[in-house]
Amino acid sequence: MIRCNMCDVEMFTTSIDSVHPGYLPVMLVNREKGLFATEYKSELLCYVCPECGHIELYAKDPKKLRGKMIGK
Ligand SMILES: [Zn+2]
Repeated sequence: MIRCNMCDVEMFTTSIDSVHPGYLPVMLVNREKGLFATEYKSELLCYVCPECGHIELYAKDPKKLRGKMIGK
C-alpha cells in the first residue's frame, strides 16, 4: 500500500495506456552502450492519489530492467 506524500491517503493503481489507438503505451527501456547492446524493458505501474491527483510511477519489474549492470 502506498500513501500520498502530501495528503496521507491511500493511492490506487491504474494502468497506463496510449492516448491514440495504435500508439504503444509508455514503457521503460534501459539500453546498454556498445556494439551488442541489449535493451532491458519493464512496464510501468502507476499509483494515483484520489485527493490531489499526484501520481507515482514504478517499474513493474525493476530487477529485469536493471539488466546485468553491476555496482550502479
Ligand atoms: Zn494527494
